Order: sequence, then structure tokens, then C-alpha cells
Amino acid sequence: MEKFLLSTFSSIKEVSKVVWDSFVDNSRISMQYDHLHAIEQSRINDHKPHYITVYDNTMKQYVGVAYFIAMDMDVSKSADDLKPESVEIVKQWFPNFLKLKMIECGLLTGTGQCFAIKEGYESEVLPLIIDEIEKQGKELDVDFVLYRDVNKSNFSKYNGLFTNAEYSAFNGYASTPLNVEWNTFDDYLKDLSRKKRRDITKAKRQLQQPGIVVEKLTDITANAEKLASLWKEVSDNSVTYSHEMLTPEYFISLEKNFGANIDVFVVKRCEEIISFGICYEGDKEYFLLYTGFNVSENRKYALYFNNYYIAMEEAIRKGKKVIDMGVTTYDVKLKLGASTTSNAYFTKYLKNPSKSFTLASFLEDGIIQPEKKYTVFKEKKSNREEIAPLLVQKQYESNDIFGKTDSFHRINLLELMGIYSFFPEFESAQTNTVSLDGKDIYMFGSNSYLGLANDSRVIEASVDATRFYGSGCSGSPLMNGTLDIHNKLTAELKALLNKEDCILYSTGYQTNLGVVSALANASDLVILDEYSHASLIDGSLLSKAKIARYRHNNMAYLDKMLQRFPDKRKLVISDSVFSMKGTVVDLPELVRVCKKHNARLVLDEAHAVGVYGPNGGGIADYYGLSEEVDVITGTFSKSCASIGGFVAGNQRMVDYLRYNSRSHIFSASLPPSATASVLKSLEIIKNEPRRRQNVVQNAKKLATALISLGYEADFNNTAIIPVYCRDEIVTLALFKKLTEMGVYVNPVLSPGVPKGEELLRLSCLATHTDEDLEAIINVFKQLKTFCFPLKREQGQLLFSSKSA
Ligand code: PMP
Repeated sequence: MEKFLLSTFSSIKEVSKVVWDSFVDNSRISMQYDHLHAIEQSRINDHKPHYITVYDNTMKQYVGVAYFIAMDMDVSKSADDLKPESVEIVKQWFPNFLKLKMIECGLLTGTGQCFAIKEGYESEVLPLIIDEIEKQGKELDVDFVLYRDVNKSNFSKYNGLFTNAEYSAFNGYASTPLNVEWNTFDDYLKDLSRKKRRDITKAKRQLQQPGIVVEKLTDITANAEKLASLWKEVSDNSVTYSHEMLTPEYFISLEKNFGANIDVFVVKRCEEIISFGICYEGDKEYFLLYTGFNVSENRKYALYFNNYYIAMEEAIRKGKKVIDMGVTTYDVKLKLGASTTSNAYFTKYLKNPSKSFTLASFLEDGIIQPEKKYTVFKEKKSNREEIAPLLVQKQYESNDIFGKTDSFHRINLLELMGIYSFFPEFESAQTNTVSLDGKDIYMFGSNSYLGLANDSRVIEASVDATRFYGSGCSGSPLMNGTLDIHNKLTAELKALLNKEDCILYSTGYQTNLGVVSALANASDLVILDEYSHASLIDGSLLSKAKIARYRHNNMAYLDKMLQRFPDKRKLVISDSVFSMKGTVVDLPELVRVCKKHNARLVLDEAHAVGVYGPNGGGIADYYGLSEEVDVITGTFSKSCASIGGFVAGNQRMVDYLRYNSRSHIFSASLPPSATASVLKSLEIIKNEPRRRQNVVQNAKKLATALISLGYEADFNNTAIIPVYCRDEIVTLALFKKLTEMGVYVNPVLSPGVPKGEELLRLSCLATHTDEDLEAIINVFKQLKTFCFPLKREQGQLLFSSKSA
């Protein structure tokens, strides 16, 4: 036989009142049987209550009880850095956005108490309770479990047990008890500083206006609807965490179950209740449970403040030792002289416990802690406890370099919100469609612009090369890593780009990193377009040169900047087609400005090779300016359907890179398969110019349709179409909606684009058919029935709330 018998019930009526109440402090309202009964009957928030008892089979006695509820929680109020308008937009696509399913232990008990364990049994019984609640949580498919209000005195007793079970602690709402040391309310007033006394008397006088009566309600049941509606008014207006939607049944049940211990004070104006405070009278404590009032009349009669004064007067009159003012909204309580007692909460994200610390930090951020300083009494009377330091558990010490990982919450938060969307796992090749989560969807997010990544000729060439040369080169180009096909490839590139020399790198990123860092050094100036690719920026940083950025594609601006540095050696850097926004560099002007200032130009043709120019050489080829551009870099990971990169330029400069560019020298060469794929792709690029026409034509059709639908989309004669959302969560949610609707595009956030310019990046393939285009256009059309990102006019309205 097990030592302990754990039983779970879904109604308190199934539990023995005598057993239950033997565990809880009956002098106050909290986990008392009758109170839980009242809560259960009230159906607040449609909560589903559960009750646990733990019985010791050997000692033949009950050793613990616990209470928890399952419900949905809208955590959008806790997310203080989310714009409410963004949340509203996302909710149109995902009505359950930021509504998490939770098990909350302690909600509604007033004190937040949720379990009670016989002394000495804590370390045996709490883990059992934790396990049982999680088991129930998993059955109910909840996202997380939250234990409220483990007060400071119990913290060290329970903290270890919770952390063992992968819970994270955080600072919850503090309790605010006020020790009553006065015989009358007037004595209390005399004890206050002059200013506080004046404030209170002034507020109380506001209730002396004509038609206003303050009275104790004799029939709570008859007025229960009114009380619930006044509570709702306050709750709806609250900007902080508050989610108990008290029902009329709650008030009725409290009256029925507690009768004489419940006081409801009301303010009436011409017989209508405009404000109430509901209090529980314990042996020593007076507990102000809830207050509600007519929000629009609050100022005129100081209803909110007066509810507290009324309760206080009553507590003093009744000779209570403590008045407990509950949690949240501290201003009035602290101004009355209440002290604060910290409470720890414990939470676990059941769906992924390793992310519990993020959830804790998120919930903690949404909880406002009381102000530290209030001088209320003439002499210092309140022994205010210092607010506890942050409790959110850190895995690493602050002097550990891993410490920064403890506060990296951005991605985890997206996961909690259900809009995490990175590293999608495709189960197919990237053609016009891809398989994602077992479903075929249209691919409008691939950089294989010419559709060559699955061209049978390219695949064939790659397989043949692997058979002949093996799977890898096992060395850098300088040593054992150069093959005849590498040299064949550089020869092709030299011809295509009209350059004297060319070398290869293993990725496009490494290319830019290695080129810029080798060409510039600490005494030079590097000037980049503000939207330049990360690899160019990183190369510049690595070079230790002085770095400056010029406004996107603004050559007059660049001209002025260059003027300021006549004596520096200068390297100007730009993408030819900008990767995220799809804009095209004003190359003729850029070349002119660089020449004027004797600056050398690096042009990254990553998105242009294969798509532009009579030979598919890129933007420089298109303008016939290849010779004028000093350094051309590019990647094979886009039109060339593989991986790797190159730099081309005059012989002396490339030779310098060959021996000085560290990412070329200290990294293994392109594998034979990739090299052969690129060679074959270049052959197709040369022989099938139709592909470059198709890709831009497709993009034009798509962009034109999106713009005419009202989306803030752009078309620059490139394959890339940005659709601006200008908000992080809207972008991610729209991305998710699109995948659900059968279309894959790329969500782009900061640092990919500057904050406020978040966008969906759509890219077309030469192989997209009219049907493919129709399909995506249709999806965007359907989206119009929701709120959707619209083209901004004169910087106005960003989103339309309904279909135009
Ligand atoms: N330059 C630009 C403009 C790019 O967009 C990219 C890739 N997105 C790179 C360089 C890096 O190329 P790779 O992915 O081949 O490393």
C-alpha cells in the first residue's frame, strides 16, 4: 500500500468540511470550505475547480489539502510592451491569441492561499500535490500552472520543492495589511500627517453632497446583479492584471454561506447603488475583499478611496487588529498606511518546462509592485517590509558569461504567444510548393529565383561530381582544396562578370566578411548603405576601419559624406538588389560619386546574379558598368541553386585577397557537388534568358495585385516584394495565418529590417505559374475579410479594421 492516498474532487461538496477546515485558518476568509463552496457555485470565469486531499495511510490521518482551478487567461494585459492595437489586429486572425489555458492555484481565495500541509509533512506532500496538479493540467491540455501567494515566511520552506519540480519563482502581488492601533477613526486621522488627513477628510466630504447616502446593505442577494455589474465596470477599466469576473451568484453565495461575517457597504445616489465594498469579518482581521463603483462618477464622489475609508472605519469600530486590503492597486492602501508583504508566485510552462523562466519573467513584468516610499503618519508607524528582490530564477551567476542567456526571452515569448515561426521544417524539396507539417503549400519565400534548385540537369551534374570527386574537399583552396572544377567555375565567372580574376568562398556570408575585412584596415573609412547585408557590416567591423552609413540609396547624401573625408582611403559598399526590401541600387550615380571622391566600390550582387543583365551577370551587367565596379561579390545560394560565394575584380586586388582574405584561406573549399551545381546553373542562366524575364514578370503581377488590394507592398522590378506590417507580432501572426491558408512567405523582423519596418518578404520564382500566382493573390484577397495591413496614406492609418 502507498504511504499516501491522494484524492481529487471536482466539487467541494464531495469533501468533508471538517477535514478540510481542519487545515485552514478559519479566522479569515481564504481556503475555508464555505468560501470555496461560494466560489464554486458562482461559476466565476467559467472556472473548473478541483480539490485535493492527502491521507497518510500509515498514520491514518489527513496531512494536506489543495485547491486549484482550470481556466483561460488573457495575458495580453500582462504584456506591457505589446501595442494594444497590434493585439487587437492579431486577435482578428487568432481569436485565442494570448489566451493561455492555465491552472491557477489560489485565485479567488482572497489571500491567494491554495494548499495547506500538516507541519513536518511539507517535503513529502507538496511534491505529490505538484505532481497531481500537473497530471490534471496535462489532461486538460493547459499551457501553464501558477501557484499564487507563497508568502515570505513560507518561501524558503517551499522554494526548493518547487524548483526541484522545474518551477520558476517570481514576485507576485504583495499583500497589504494595516495594523490597527486606534480606538476610533478620528484617532487614526489625528495620527496622520497633515496632508494625508486633509486628503481623507476632503474625500469623505465629497460623500456629503445632496442625494448621497452611505449604508450597509441588508439584502445582498436582491442587489447581487448590481454589485457584479459595478465590479465589471472597474475590472474592464483596469489596465493591470485582473481577471476574476465576479458573478451575482458569488455575492449571493457569500451572503448565504457566511451571513453575519459579510458586510457590504454601498454608496447610493437617489436610491441607486453607485459604489460598494464587500468585507469579511474574521476574529482579528477585517478583510476588504472587493470594491466596485460607477467609474464615471468616481471623481465626483471619490468612490474608490471612500470604499477604503468606510471599510477602515468599520474595522476600527469593530476593534479588529488588522485590516487586510488584499493585493493590487496599492496607491490608496499605502497612503492609508498599510504595510507590504511580498508574495512569491511559482509557475511552470507545462508545454516546455525549460521555458518556465521566460513565463515567470513575463508574468512578473505584468505585475506592478508597490511604491517603496510613502510617509503617512506623523511618526513612523508602519513597518513596511522592503519589496523583495527579483525572484525569477537565474541559471547562471551574474559573473558567468552565460549569464546573458538567462535574460534572453524574446524568442521564448513568441513561443508562449503561439506565433513563433522560425526554423520551419520542410519535408520536401523547394519547388513551387513545399511540404510543411505534412501539408503542401505554395512557396513564395525561396531565393532559388530561377527555379534551378530542383532542375534535373543541375541535380544530375551535382550527383556526377560527387561520384567522381567524392563528397568534400577536406581542405582549404590554398592547400589541398582546389579542384579543376573550381578553376573552371572561376573562369566562367570572370567571363560573365567581365573581370580579370575571381576566387571562391564557401558561403556568401564568408565572402563579404573576408573581402571587406581584408581590403580595409584601421586607418581606412568604410561607408555602407544603411540597409546593407549583415555580412558586409560584419566584414566592416572586423576590418576595424572607421564605419559610416549613408541613407538608403541616397547618392547625394553619400556624396556629402565622402566630401568630409578627403584624406581617408575609402571603401563604399552597397548591395545591388537589397535583400529584404527588393530595392535596386542607383548604380550609375553610385559609380559617379565613388569616382568623384576616389573611393573604391564593393557591390554585392547576391540577389542579382542570374536575374539581371543581358548575360545574367547582375545589376552591373544590366547597366554595362561591370568594369566600373571595383569589387563584385555574390553568392551561389540564390539563382545558382547551391551554396558558396565569389569575389571578382582586377587581378592585383583579387590576388591580394587570395593570400590575405582569412575566410578564403582558413576554410575548406566548396564541395564538388556544389561547384558542379553552380557550373550547370551558370550554363542554364546563359542559355535560358527567358527565366530572368519570367521571374520579374511574375513578381510584377503579384506586386500589382497586392498593391491594388490595398496592401503596403512594393515593386522595384526585382523578384522580391516586401509587404509592410510595421509591427513584430502582426508580421509573425500574419505569417502564421498565411501558412495556415496555404502560402509560405518570410517574416522579417529587426535586425533584418529596422524596427517599425517589419515586413513579409515575398519572392517569386521563374517557375511560378499563373495558377500559383492566382492562388497566393486569392489568399491575400481572403485576408481582406480580416483586419489587414493597408497601404499608408500620408503616414496615417496603418491598418484597416475591416475589408475595404
Ligand atoms: N549578401 C546578401 C545581400 C544576402 O542577401 C545574403 C544572404 N541572404 C548574403 C550576402 C549571404 O549569402 P549566403 O547565404 O550564401 O551566405
